[in-house]
Amino acid sequence: MNAEIIAVGSELLLGQIVNTNARFISKHLADAGINVFYHSVVGDNPGRLKSVLEVAERRSNIIIFTGGLGPTKDDLTKETIAAHIGTELVLDDDAFRWIEEFYAKTGMEMTENNRKQALVLKGSQVLKNEHGMAPGMLLDTGKRIYMLLPGPPKEMEPMFSKYALPALLSKLNMQEKLVSRVIRFFGISEALLEAKVQDIIDQQSNPTIAPLAAEWDVTLRLTAKHSSIETALQLIDETEKLILERVGEYKYGYDDTSLMKELTKVLKQNGLTISCAESLTGGLFQQELTSIPGTTDILKGGVVCYTRESKEKVLLVQKETIDKEGVVSEACASELAENAAKIFQSDIGISFTGVAGPEELEGKPAGTVFIGISIKGRPTLVKKVNLAGTRDAIRTQTVKHGCFYLLKLLSESQSA
Ligand code: ATP
Repeated sequence: MNAEIIAVGSELLLGQIVNTNARFISKHLADAGINVFYHSVVGDNPGRLKSVLEVAERRSNIIIFTGGLGPTKDDLTKETIAAHIGTELVLDDDAFRWIEEFYAKTGMEMTENNRKQALVLKGSQVLKNEHGMAPGMLLDTGKRIYMLLPGPPKEMEPMFSKYALPALLSKLNMQEKLVSRVIRFFGISEALLEAKVQDIIDQQSNPTIAPLAAEWDVTLRLTAKHSSIETALQLIDETEKLILERVGEYKYGYDDTSLMKELTKVLKQNGLTISCAESLTGGLFQQELTSIPGTTDILKGGVVCYTRESKEKVLLVQKETIDKEGVVSEACASELAENAAKIFQSDIGISFTGVAGPEELEGKPAGTVFIGISIKGRPTLVKKVNLAGTRDAIRTQTVKHGCFYLLKLLSESQSA
């Protein structure tokens, strides 16, 4: 079964709004194992809508429309479809009552136009709109399935998840269950990750493997189909094992986690505390850390040591170190991390010093970053990374590299 999405609305063509409905529906259909091969956008014009519909009918068995179900004259989706497939629109009593109740509650006057909203394609399954007035509908003509959904995402999304997708799946009689797992990687580009596992991707059809680059990390989504969930999970486990044999060093978590969430989890599990000395990141590491609930037991404190003076006076970096090596140096990062841990009496000290740009500093180009990590009872380590992008991109990536580097060091010490 191939699905196609047609978004109706002139404001989409004028660039006033983005077609988030197509993205939402596509993602959910893909997760359910239904192929989406085309997205179209068409204005509020019955002639053009009809011609898009005719094209869609030649290539898809499921055609999903969003928009144009409202009460106004230019809302013509269901009228155009009804005329095209030769059916009529009939009043749906439940939808009409729902609209009447809405007007009674708000005290507003109902107009004849609102009656139009309760008209549905004859023989269709009506999809309740719990967040607005226009009902959705699903019509199975035997040859094809037509689904009509309202335009506003706050109405369309809950309707799709709660009523439309389950109705569609039961129509398609999909016995097989779909199970997905997203594996998250950091420190490897999408292209390199794909190249390293390309043969596994090519050979696999169950589970399928879909690479996706998120903002700074890369993910692989494994989706398995089977009548038994346990077997589907087992298929995913086996393929994951093959993948991790190649690129396991870059993996940091699953599904919708983040590097900082993983780091806080590991720190909590091990009862470890941390403190920070942040130069170029200006407090970003601590901001991200404290945005995760329950970090009071983890974060002992931190200093934004943006200037040379604050590094010397507050974090007690030796003058000679800075004179000799500069503030953007391995030696400075090392002293910052060690001293942060001492001052705040934490198990771990982490430091960030570098050049956020755009200008160079101490003859070092923008993007040169040193991350110091001092773990109690172990020699202090410093990682140098060379990053690219705007100031914000460099600062954001620095924090992520710090999380990833520390996570790796902690997992090494656990497995040692
Ligand atoms: P209404 O009853 O509000 O008129 P409708 O089903 O007729 O709903 P439209 O009039 O086409 O829908 O769109 C209403 C609003 O919904 C748009 O102004 C826009 O904000 C949002 N919208 C419509 N289509 C999309 C889309 N494809 N993606 C994201 N938002 C959309």
